[in-house]
Amino acid sequence: MIAVQTIDRVISALDALTDDNPDFERTVDFYEELLPLLYAARPALDGLTLNRDWAKAKLAEGVPLLWGEFGRPAALGTEPNIELFMTLCRLATEGGSDSADALMRAFLGGILDLKLTLTHALCLDRPALTETARSLAVEPALLESVARYTLSPIAWSYRYAFSQALDFKEWGRGYCPVCGDWPILAELRGRDKLRYLRCGRCGAGWKFNRLQCLWCDNTNKKELSFLFDPTAVARRVDVCDYCRGYIKTITTFDPLDAELLAVYDLETMALDHIAAHEGYQRPFKQPLPQ
Ligand SMILES: [Zn+2]
Ligand SMILES: [Zn+2]
Repeated sequence: MIAVQTIDRVISALDALTDDNPDFERTVDFYEELLPLLYAARPALDGLTLNRDWAKAKLAEGVPLLWGEFGRPAALGTEPNIELFMTLCRLATEGGSDSADALMRAFLGGILDLKLTLTHALCLDRPALTETARSLAVEPALLESVARYTLSPIAWSYRYAFSQALDFKEWGRGYCPVCGDWPILAELRGRDKLRYLRCGRCGAGWKFNRLQCLWCDNTNKKELSFLFDPTAVARRVDVCDYCRGYIKTITTFDPLDAELLAVYDLETMALDHIAAHEGYQRPFKQPLPQ
C-alpha cells in the first residue's frame, strides 16, 4: 500500500530544500518523479516469518540478511520488479540516455539477465556490473543506477520487516546488516551521543563504535578526526587518515526518519565538498570480497 502521507512528507522536505538551494532543483525534480514509483513498488511481505536462528547465524558471519535471498523462489517479494525496471529505463531514455534504451532492448531481447545483474548490484560487485555494462555497450553508471533503484523497494520492505524483529546491536560492521550497502550518514544520537550508521539503500540503522573507521576498522585515535563547518556545528565529517575515507555525521536527539535520509544527504552536501577538498572520499569496496 502506498503511504501517501509519507510521500507528501518527503516531497515537502525536498521542496523546502530547493527554497534555500536553487542548485538542488534538478535533483529534487528527479526524486519527485521517482519517489511515487519506488513507494508503489515496495512489495508487501504479509506472511513473512523470520527465522531468528537463521538471521543470527547470518549476522554472526557478517553476511547481510538479504544476501543470498534475492530471487530465491521461497523468499517472499524478491523477484525482480520488471515493471519498475522498464519504467526506470523509459524515464532515463526520455531524459536523453541512449544507454537506457539499449538496456531495455537488451532485456527484451533476452540478453540481459536481470536477476543476476540485481544480485551483483545487491552485493556491490562493481567489476561484474562493469563487465555486464561493457558486454551490452551501455554506460556502467547507468546500469548501476537502474539496478540500484530496481532493488531499492525490496530492500526497504525487508528492512522494515527485519527491524521490527531485530535491533542489530551485535552487528558492529561498517556496512548495512540488511542490504550490505555502506552508510550514507552517521548519527551521534541522544544524550550519550551513541554512534549509529544509516543505510541510504534500505533505511536501516545500527550501532557502531565511535572511535573506529567504518571503512577500514582503524581504531588508532591519532588517525581519526573530524572536519566541520563552524556555521553548522551539529553536522560534521568524520575522517580516517589511514584509508582517507569519510562519513557525514549529524548530531540528533532521536533517530533520523528513514524516509528522509535522502533529504538529509542532499542537505549536507556542503560537507561532501569539505571532505573532498581535504582529500577524503567514500571508498568503493565490496563488504565481503568474493
Ligand atoms: Zn541497507
Ligand atoms: Zn579508515
